[in-house]
Amino acid sequence: MDEGRPFRVRSWYGLPAEIGVGRVWHWVKAGPVPLPHPGLVDLHLRQGLPRRERERLTYWHEMGHLETLPLALLHGLALWSVGRRRRGAPWWARLLVGLLAWLAGWELFAEFYTIARTGPKYARLYRKARTPMPTALFFWVGMWLLAVGGSMWVWGGYRRDTEDAEIS
Ligand SMILES: [Zn+2]
Repeated sequence: MDEGRPFRVRSWYGLPAEIGVGRVWHWVKAGPVPLPHPGLVDLHLRQGLPRRERERLTYWHEMGHLETLPLALLHGLALWSVGRRRRGAPWWARLLVGLLAWLAGWELFAEFYTIARTGPKYARLYRKARTPMPTALFFWVGMWLLAVGGSMWVWGGYRRDTEDAEIS
């Protein structure tokens, strides 16, 4: 895997894209549009892994962002349509929680994809990792809390709204 040379790939839904995996930076560009997501998350997740394996996993992770984009868009759409009508919280709080939940969800989708592509080797790599687990654990617990907790917070306000509407 050459550092800095982008890979040309095509998503299952036909979108051509470019994936770049470097020592510290990586990106996905779908056509001319970059898909922004916090790369810092991936760096934390890969601590303690050998460089080659780290880059390979990062490549699958970036590919995962591309392949699960439709799923992420659906999640975002659901959050948006519910969140904009949610009462009991200022707009900026709804936007912030919704955005975090959406990004965290997309990170989880991408990493689930990475696990699916890597197979049993994924668990083996992490068992052998020299760094103690907490950095990876931090990713899983943090992303799960943000994605599920955030989505439920947005959704919970919606349920209360419909109940209010039934009473009035
Ligand atoms: Zn990511």
